Amino acid sequence: MLKSKKLHTSVISQSVRGQAFHIIKFLDSRFRGNDKFLRVCHFKPNKGVIMIEEFIKALPKAELHLHIEGSLEPELMFELAERNNVELPFATVEEVREAYEFSDLQSFLDIYYAGAGVLLHVSDFFDLTLAYIERVQKQNVRHVEIFFDPQTHTDRGVPFQTLITGIHKALVEAKEKYGMTSRLIMCFLRHLSEEAAMSTLEDALPFRGWITGVGLDSSEVGFPPEKFERVFAKATAAGFRKVAHAGEEGPPEYIWQALDLLGVSRIDHGVRCLEDPKLVQRLVKEKMPLTVCPLSNTKLRVFDKMEDHNLKKMLDAGLCVTINSDDPAYFGGYMNENFIAAQKGLNLSHEDVIEIAKNGFRASYLAEDEIDAHLQSIDDLLGQQRASSGTLVNQQIPGKNE
Ligand SMILES: [Zn+2]
Repeated sequence: MLKSKKLHTSVISQSVRGQAFHIIKFLDSRFRGNDKFLRVCHFKPNKGVIMIEEFIKALPKAELHLHIEGSLEPELMFELAERNNVELPFATVEEVREAYEFSDLQSFLDIYYAGAGVLLHVSDFFDLTLAYIERVQKQNVRHVEIFFDPQTHTDRGVPFQTLITGIHKALVEAKEKYGMTSRLIMCFLRHLSEEAAMSTLEDALPFRGWITGVGLDSSEVGFPPEKFERVFAKATAAGFRKVAHAGEEGPPEYIWQALDLLGVSRIDHGVRCLEDPKLVQRLVKEKMPLTVCPLSNTKLRVFDKMEDHNLKKMLDAGLCVTINSDDPAYFGGYMNENFIAAQKGLNLSHEDVIEIAKNGFRASYLAEDEIDAHLQSIDDLLGQQRASSGTLVNQQIPGKNE
């Protein structure tokens, strides 16, 4: 019998069901010349190696693009519908999930507004917000800047005070219970009139202390930022920070308008900026943050699949890219899922992931010393993991004993 001899040994590291393994591949001399049996693998648990998914999960993160109404999970939607005697156009939770196959932004918005109909009382907005907080605190999200759409509710007869009180109470609890900090950003629905946005801004003024900024969301194409120039001027005078959705489905021109006419300090999405080199130059020069939402973009067909997403190109162009979840209940994932999907699809390095996580804090509306403390906590984590393992590895596809 031929004696087995290992030739050309190679070792790679992979994650199998979250556990790090060394996979040792070698050529077995017994099978020399037989292609089929040439490669033999051995799996060896490797506790010293930190896989990138585990690293992402452990990373302190900030979420800057989250619509609180978009965190309404079907289970809570049904619970609130029952509590409030609201009839839903769906019979079961499964039916709701089946309806989450969107063809574009508008097909999503139709379901999104229907779902929001179950939110009526302070306790509903409180439960909705706290459910989101509890999910993301488990994902090491340390700071959130939450969008809310008052018009979605005030147009149904829910008073502004009701919704803001429920959301605010949950954010106070987030701080007390989990030490999680937050900011609130009130969005105007851009498919509605300038007049309606103006009156929403008036509604918000008595709660100025609870609201940090204003934004612009909903159907983008056909509703350019310039429509809200006067509303944003008034918001500036009232001391609000400003952001706007631009360049998701709409053209780069909308990003120019958001910068020049609305005076925003962050662009939400902005992925179409790469179509305009002059715009990219300006965004890089001004270190303008872009709140990119990878799973949202693939779910709404801005990109057909994650491998086609331009996030890595944006990062390589020097843009201040952040990763966020947008409407996580509808798009299949919260912060970790978005980071992991983008990392896998675009083969992001540890350095890329760290830079994106740091950008989240840098682009936030936290005070400088708070931002520095979060950046330090990322460096500390990196230091600890390097000290304990010496290795951070990128491969994450479950290994197959070939
Ligand atoms: Zn959004």
